[in-house]
Amino acid sequence: METRVLNALLCPSCGLQLESDESGFRCIEHGLWLMYGERLLVHAPSEEYKLRDRFTMPWETPVRLA
Ligand SMILES: [Zn+2]
Repeated sequence: METRVLNALLCPSCGLQLESDESGFRCIEHGLWLMYGERLLVHAPSEEYKLRDRFTMPWETPVRLA
């Protein structure tokens, strides 16, 4: 039985109550937030951010043959 009481989490950006999600907590305005440790919420990277900041694996580096 779950005895831990979860306080309502509020969006750090707008203060709206976050909806619990299978992967984190969702704000209708700001999307997904992830619980990091006991108290810290971090914004999940947006799809755009993931694309822009995607690391290229060494085996994915295009090889230029001279
Ligand atoms: Zn928000």
